[in-house]
Amino acid sequence: MSDHERVWPRLEPVETGVRGRCPRCGEGRLFDGFLKLRSECDQCGLSYDFADPADGPAFFVICFGCIPAVTFALMLEIWFTPPLWVQLCTSVPLLLITCILPLRPLKGWLVCSQYFFKAGEGRISRPWRPYGADGPLVEPRKP
Ligand SMILES: [Zn+2]
Repeated sequence: MSDHERVWPRLEPVETGVRGRCPRCGEGRLFDGFLKLRSECDQCGLSYDFADPADGPAFFVICFGCIPAVTFALMLEIWFTPPLWVQLCTSVPLLLITCILPLRPLKGWLVCSQYFFKAGEGRISRPWRPYGADGPLVEPRKP
């Protein structure tokens, strides 16, 4: 049975992406290292050429990790004016944790979402539905 004939299970991008697993089979690894993507799935052979999250993970980390952490550091300084060692022991680890740890699951989630929703460059419209979704096809809008 070739890849085109086989029916793959519908896997939610959040589940596979956060775990760093292949968006098609859910078993193969997505990453080669901390943030570098593999060229293809080691289980089902899916090529990850479609994957291009660009600055998406960094954007979410900045919005939901860095800004709150920097705000915490500023408020700590303004309200309590603590000695430097308190900032070094609280704000610096908080900033590192909120900026580095979420990058990998966010990148995995975005890559798996690209596969799930068939994201790509714009092209002529045709009927569409999310990967594995049941229900009627969505007809493109007429101009
Ligand atoms: Zn796979």
